[in-house]
Amino acid sequence: MFIVDAHLDLSMNALEWNRDLTQPVAAINERELGLTDKPDRAKATVSLPELRKGNIGLVVATQIARYVAPGNKLPGWHSPQQAWAQTQGQLAWYKAMEDAGEMVQVNNLATLNKHIKLWADGTDSTTKPIGYILSLEGADSLVTVGHLERAYNAGLRAVGPAHYGPGRYAQGTDATGFMGPKGHELLKEMERLNIILDATHLCDDSFWEALDNFNGHVWASHNNCRALVNHNRQYSDEQIKAIIDRGAVIGAALDAWMMVPDWVRGESTPRGMNCNLEVMIDHIDHICQLAGNALHVGMGTDLDGAFGREQCPYDLETIADLQKVTGLLAKRGYTDTDIENMMHGNWLRFLRKAWADK
Ligand SMILES: [Zn+2]
Repeated sequence: MFIVDAHLDLSMNALEWNRDLTQPVAAINERELGLTDKPDRAKATVSLPELRKGNIGLVVATQIARYVAPGNKLPGWHSPQQAWAQTQGQLAWYKAMEDAGEMVQVNNLATLNKHIKLWADGTDSTTKPIGYILSLEGADSLVTVGHLERAYNAGLRAVGPAHYGPGRYAQGTDATGFMGPKGHELLKEMERLNIILDATHLCDDSFWEALDNFNGHVWASHNNCRALVNHNRQYSDEQIKAIIDRGAVIGAALDAWMMVPDWVRGESTPRGMNCNLEVMIDHIDHICQLAGNALHVGMGTDLDGAFGREQCPYDLETIADLQKVTGLLAKRGYTDTDIENMMHGNWLRFLRKAWADK
């Protein structure tokens, strides 16, 4: 079945992990054997051939670069200009993948429909380009709100105003507080340009403020449920209902600590914590119960988003194993139509609506 994954940090993997994503996952991992600079070395699950193998022909792919003020202990750049430059390098990688015929940018209704048609034509998908919708995870790198239009012109179609910690336009995971005047200015400009608000990673205060002050299209690219794993990174039932009311689709994430409670980073193991793809269905099912239908969930795996096999479901070896999710959903009693919607239909319907008049 055709799959859309709404959150992958592909360019970050390419440039910060130094992964050649045109290679099979096995080759990437073999080359990382012995490296100890990051916990997920030699544990990759994502590459372009693997996406093709899993019939995951369309992804939302990020640019990501944090600004950190003095005293902020999170990793990040010391000026917004450096963060901007980082995202421009990431953009250059996506463009290089386009030049190589490996990827193709999807940024409006015409390119979306053309791409979906290409993947549905029944021919061998192993040579087809992976479609990508460009998204910015954390807006710190926008030196000024004026930079957003430059980013839009390069294809940017979704923005999550914050990531982890305090941000320049909004407060993110593990932080608290409101967006402030610059955040409001950003939301206005996003609305003018018809850029999707990715409500993922906003802290509770900023989340509610963003919903109140943004009249455009809202999704949550990768977000699980607080009712199942109690952490501020996750959505409360109230938040889930609020964004469903706005027509949002919520992407289910496969980072183990967001799937099962009491995960201890670097200590817990997927098998030890019983973290498998069934657990993903628990989060999906929780959202469907709140929605009263299966129209507001999709895949938003975040695989290889600074974690690898050491911290994702044990029954997933590479991202191609997402195909297993269809069978698990059927086992839970979802209909074929529900499953098609959750694997791709909900994201496509959302995008077609968001881009209808552009
Ligand atoms: Zn994230």
